[in-house]
This record gives sequence, C-alpha cells and structure tokens, in this order.
Amino acid sequence: MSLKIMLVDDAAIVRTTLRDILTKNNFDVVGEAQDGQEAIKKFVNLKPDLVIMDITMPVMNGIEATREIKKIDPEAKILICSVLGQKRMILDAFMAGAEDFLVKPFKKESVLEKVSKYL
Ligand SMILES: [Mg+2]
Repeated sequence: MSLKIMLVDDAAIVRTTLRDILTKNNFDVVGEAQDGQEAIKKFVNLKPDLVIMDITMPVMNGIEATREIKKIDPEAKILICSVLGQKRMILDAFMAGAEDFLVKPFKKESVLEKVSKYL
C-alpha cells in the first residue's frame, strides 16, 4: 500500500505502538515527530498522505499544529488522537481541520479501520 503516514506524539511508546500496528499491515510510516513544531517541519519535507496527531504535546500542541498544517496544505489529512473525556479538544481539533479521531489507548482494529479509509 502506498499510503504515506507520519506519526506525531510526544510519547515514544505511543509512536512505536502505532508504527508496529501500521507496518505489520503494510502501511508506510515515513516519519515521526514529537511535538507540533517538529510535525510542521517534517510535514513540509515528507508530504505524508496522512498525519496521526496527538493533542497534548510540549512546544506546540496537536490542535495548533493541525491549524498550521492546514494553512500550508488545505488538503492535508489529519487524524487526531485523544484520550477519553477530551470531547472539547476533539471539537477544537475538528475546527482546526482534523478529519477524524482515534481514542487512546489504541485498539489495533480501529486504527486499521480509520487509516484504511484514506487508501
Ligand atoms: Mg501527548
């Protein structure tokens, strides 16, 4: 599959978990970033088809990063990640331009189901 995915999360274990799920199912993880600012830089260089973006991160959070990435590329596809109970933040992320969301802790099936929509 040729869907290029970039992972953004400040927790290395979360990125590793996602990378594992995705690569084992033949998705192409082209890069990782640990905060929103790094995500913007790497987005410009890597031009991923899909960004999986954490909300709570140091330096720049996922909502701001989503807003900035959508300014750079209005067609950018961003899946926001949240923990249960972050309804308000999910709403903010949608307003910033995120398309869909994933709930942490990740269930393999829902990750694959949501990501497959972008194939
Ligand atoms: Mg976080």
